[in-house]
Amino acid sequence: MTLDVRTLLHHDGPIARRLPGFEARPQQLDLSVAIERAFRERRHLIAEAGTGVGKSFAYLLPAALHADQNQGGGPIVISTRTIALQEQLEKKDLPFLHAVLPFEWSSTTAVGRNNYLCLRRMHLAEREQSMLEDPDKSAQLRKLVGWSLGAHDRTKMELPFPVLPEVWEEVQAEHGNCLNRACKHFDMCGWQRARRRAETAQVLIVNHSLYFADLALRMAGATFLPEHRFVVFDEAHHLERVATESLGLRVSAATIGWHLRRLHPRRSDRSLLGRHGSQRARVLHEELRLCNDAFFAELDGRMHGSTRDGDCALGDEVLVEPVTTLLRQLASELLAAASRTEQVDVKMELQARASGLSALAAVFDALCNPAAQPDTKLVRWIERGKNGPSLCGAPLDVSSVLQKHLFENGPTCVLTSATLGPVDDAGFVYLKGQLGIGQDRVDTLRLGSPFDFDRAVQLVLETGMPDPSTAPAQYKQRVAERTLDYVLDNGGHALVLCTSWDFVRSLAEHLASELLAADIPLLVQGSAPLSQLLEQKRSLPTSVLIGTDSLWEGIDVPGDALTLVVVTRLPFQNPSHPLTKARMQAFEQRGGDAFRDWSLPEAILKFRQGFGRLIRSQQDHGKVVVLDPRMKTKAYGQRFLASLPVATDESQDATPAD
Ligand code: SF4
Repeated sequence: MTLDVRTLLHHDGPIARRLPGFEARPQQLDLSVAIERAFRERRHLIAEAGTGVGKSFAYLLPAALHADQNQGGGPIVISTRTIALQEQLEKKDLPFLHAVLPFEWSSTTAVGRNNYLCLRRMHLAEREQSMLEDPDKSAQLRKLVGWSLGAHDRTKMELPFPVLPEVWEEVQAEHGNCLNRACKHFDMCGWQRARRRAETAQVLIVNHSLYFADLALRMAGATFLPEHRFVVFDEAHHLERVATESLGLRVSAATIGWHLRRLHPRRSDRSLLGRHGSQRARVLHEELRLCNDAFFAELDGRMHGSTRDGDCALGDEVLVEPVTTLLRQLASELLAAASRTEQVDVKMELQARASGLSALAAVFDALCNPAAQPDTKLVRWIERGKNGPSLCGAPLDVSSVLQKHLFENGPTCVLTSATLGPVDDAGFVYLKGQLGIGQDRVDTLRLGSPFDFDRAVQLVLETGMPDPSTAPAQYKQRVAERTLDYVLDNGGHALVLCTSWDFVRSLAEHLASELLAADIPLLVQGSAPLSQLLEQKRSLPTSVLIGTDSLWEGIDVPGDALTLVVVTRLPFQNPSHPLTKARMQAFEQRGGDAFRDWSLPEAILKFRQGFGRLIRSQQDHGKVVVLDPRMKTKAYGQRFLASLPVATDESQDATPAD
């Protein structure tokens, strides 16, 4: 009998027999069948599938079947955005499917090269005693050597102790710093073993950042992921953002400082530069350090002098700077030093550092001088940060790049997520435009959630609130009061979604003492790593988690810990950000309506994601409160409402109690 997804997902099939509580879901089967067809017919697929559909089995099954029935042609790549999903696939779903599917197939997970220990570099650091002057670093290096003898893949994630970044940088596997087959550690090397596994695996799990870093490399003629004909992007609503980050550029004083420190930490006589560099290289190094500090101090002064609140757009301005030239000169000095030494390991280190500086010079040049990259329209700006300003740049339009290098000349792509666009955008026109997916080679599918949202969710639209655009101070005050009311009334168990860090801080201040008095823990984004805050949220069910941006999407807090979601404001992107502004302008210039066709779909998508945080399982229930009056007072509010999987009627509105 030929196996297909219908057999495997049948209520009496191999999965149902081995998975307690498995229920055949028609949406899951529909998605799986559509993905199977996409693989067979080599057509892209955009498939939105609501929470609870069981997307991971829906794509892993056709991937495993295709691997079994079509040997060769490279792996089917599955790419996720979050580590949580990657871990779920790696540790739960894939081991289960390997155990139950009645055929042999292979799968593995690829992580970035820098996560692997390079045995050759570790022994070089040991031999050269480059960390001798720092007892903590020397002790860590000794620990690493001991650990490396028994470790399996020798990745940073396996390390049983937290490693200092400066120590790991000295021993990590690096692009351009590997002897490959000429290395005496080749057979033992964790990175090389991982590469071989990735090349032979039939299903390969990666994350979006790694996938798009590889795409950027592929555009430059190199690649580290194996050739593949199919890729499934889960959490695909992140693709435009990840592509923008991967194809974008960013440099701060710290970036250049990091490269300089790797060559020659201050107060060190045992550095690579100290031992192997020329006198001129050391002079250039010092000059570069001073110029870097001076250049970014000037940018900092410019930001402080600016009357604008946001980041500072550079337009076509050329920033005159000496850094690019100095970086290139230092790189040539290092190459000259490399050519003088007979020691292969030292030669490799010098060449790798030189190529790092050359790449940095190219980035710096592109950010300071628009003429440096005439083929790419780069939007450039200066961004404020906690540790000083950064020079940033991003392509005005990633869609043309993705169209050319991914959707037209790359693998067959399946894009899936619980939310991929506004519900009234039946053909995913917004997503296609954002990513550059042509109409002719793509099928689309929208599948609702099997959860009963009408039963599980009470949607409350607060009326009578001040308008955030026209009366921001009153609005802010009223949001603080009403959030407190709702949270206390619910006994905590809440997630409060904001749209700016300033708002998070002021709202947290307002809530802190009252929540303390009510014995409700307050967790504020930014006070600890997000993964830690989420652990706390799950283990302290009454707690209130408040934050912005990343809390709207991809966080999973099922059960009693989350029965109230407060949406303080509709999540429109900040229109004054230079990149948003430039993209909106470009949209208008092409004859589009930037608000209706760009800002609004983006905000609706995010709003749907925020709403989706509440119901994560069949048993979940609770209340979503929207405190932004524009849901009712603006015509576009109807589009937000129509995008939700719950019926809304006037009786669900609340009037604020005074
Ligand atoms: S093969 Fe490359 S990454 Fe592996 S130990 Fe040797 S030099 Fe390092």
